[in-house]
Amino acid sequence: MHLASRLRGKFPRLALTEDFSFARHTTIGCGGSAEAAAMPACLEEAAQLLTFLERERIPYCYLGAGANVLPAEGRFEGVVVRFCNMNTLYADGTLLYAGAGVTGGRLLAFAAANAIGGFEPLSGIPTSVGGGITMNAGVKELHFGDVTERVIASEKGKIYTLSQSECRFSEKSSLFQQGIAVLGAYFTGKRSDARTIAARACDFRRRRAGLPKGRSMGCAFVNPPDRSAGELIEKCGLKNTRVGGARVSEIHANFILNEGGTADDILALAELVKARVYMQTGITLREEFRRIP
Ligand SMILES: Cc1cc2nc3c(=O)[nH]c(=O)nc-3n(C[C@H](O)[C@H](O)[C@H](O)COP(=O)(O)OP(=O)(O)OC[C@H]3O[C@@H](n4cnc5c(N)ncnc54)[C@H](O)[C@@H]3O)c2cc1C
Repeated sequence: MHLASRLRGKFPRLALTEDFSFARHTTIGCGGSAEAAAMPACLEEAAQLLTFLERERIPYCYLGAGANVLPAEGRFEGVVVRFCNMNTLYADGTLLYAGAGVTGGRLLAFAAANAIGGFEPLSGIPTSVGGGITMNAGVKELHFGDVTERVIASEKGKIYTLSQSECRFSEKSSLFQQGIAVLGAYFTGKRSDARTIAARACDFRRRRAGLPKGRSMGCAFVNPPDRSAGELIEKCGLKNTRVGGARVSEIHANFILNEGGTADDILALAELVKARVYMQTGITLREEFRRIP
């Protein structure tokens, strides 16, 4: 039986898409397709779905806003679990709760509307709450992990809460990169006022104006300790290097742009960059983007 039909039989109310295109749902805009995508709407539905997928040994992967993933070419005979329907958002004093599918933009707008500040450095980062926590996304002034109070997570069908320290946040990494699902999170803000928040958010967004336009996954590599990956790549003379339709940006060398290429082109270019930087500097760059499925 088709995967989608099996899921429909088991979860009649679960939102499903058949023949899911990775290219259409990721900022890099390439990659193949998956047999189905499932979009649970609440904590229980998500946990039950994950239990079923585990029990039936159905391959699956998670997808947030798709801003930091490189999907493989070809057909994924599995299920993409998307969190876009988990959209609960509320404030309790200066504590915010957001479902995994809430976008960064919506989280920040809601905080500002409730005079809750402290999140402004995250303005303009394309993300969902689940992806932002998993990647510990941010800029040097603030990362998701800094403002995360606790996370509602799910693994093997169980829903549980993890405190900030249990989430093991580090440079562009967290415990959730090991396959534990983020279903929602509480964030600690601070009392502020709409005008201050808007001015600060505007400053941080302005700083992003110079980032390369076009299809990318943001920075391709994590900065090594006390070094800038972009500077290392630039010093190795790799700006504008091309493999097929993939190119190293000439504006910011840590951006790999997709100019009509395939996921294999992007991957080959990333490997070439890593090899050249290692050869010329002895430094091993770690991929920031996540390969899926
Ligand atoms: C133009 C551009 C600019 C960017 N600028 C920045 C920046 O300034 N700072 C920065 O840190 N990043 C930046 N990024 C990268 C990206 O925005 C962040 O990493 C973002 O947090 C990814 O979130 P997402 O929801 O898109 O996650 P996705 O890309 O969908 O997923 C990322 C990883 O998290 C997993 N995942 C997603 N949701 C969940 C979940 N609910 N539970 C468990 N695992 C999950 C996925 O399987 C994948 O492994 C940029 C990207 C682009 C395209």
